[in-house]
Amino acid sequence: MNAANMLVLASGNSGKLKEFNQLLSPLGLDVRPQAEFGVHDVEETGLTFVENALLKAREASRVSGLPALADDSGLEVDALNGAPGIYSARYAGEPKSDQRNNEKLLAALSECAEGQRTARYWCVLVYLRHAEDPVPVIVQRSWEGEVLAHPRGEGGFGYDPLFWLPDQGMSVAELPSETKNRLSHRGRALHTLVDILKVAHG
Ligand code: IMP
Repeated sequence: MNAANMLVLASGNSGKLKEFNQLLSPLGLDVRPQAEFGVHDVEETGLTFVENALLKAREASRVSGLPALADDSGLEVDALNGAPGIYSARYAGEPKSDQRNNEKLLAALSECAEGQRTARYWCVLVYLRHAEDPVPVIVQRSWEGEVLAHPRGEGGFGYDPLFWLPDQGMSVAELPSETKNRLSHRGRALHTLVDILKVAHG
């Protein structure tokens, strides 16, 4: 690999790094973590997933001098007017805690009847060729479900034990990880991005 094939991932998450590399290495691309280039997390001051993903990608590209990829994701609950939305990771405040986030979500929906607990995960991916790229590649994908009244399953992360998939008859935390990667907001956004980059990188 040489620098011409390198991309920086605007994240410190090793699971994401592995997933991106699995799909992008067949295109001859080498996805490297932002820490390798001394990129620090930026403050996510945007009001949308796409703004936050752009902020992260732009900073990673600016500091590393390489093309950059960033993702931003979260859960949108209809009965809560879209909350927790862009604040999903820190819904119950700092320090971030999946367990406290899930408890807060259950409490917020305690009066909400079955059938009115519809929700969706969102994932936005941004690819920038350079920090001033005026035409970023942007992919947005959602995954529809409902918020359960009690957690189910041990897999996944975040809100997965509370996210019910009516067509699968199970929560995301009960789904095998390969199935989650195939069906999820993030998995499908990544596949679409790969199709777009295939055109750009052969
Ligand atoms: P991000 O890392 O800034 O994109 O934060 C996304 C937050 O949204 C996570 O911390 C979770 O709370 C939630 N989230 C996004 N995608 C998923 C998922 O696939 N399962 C469970 N929670 C998710």
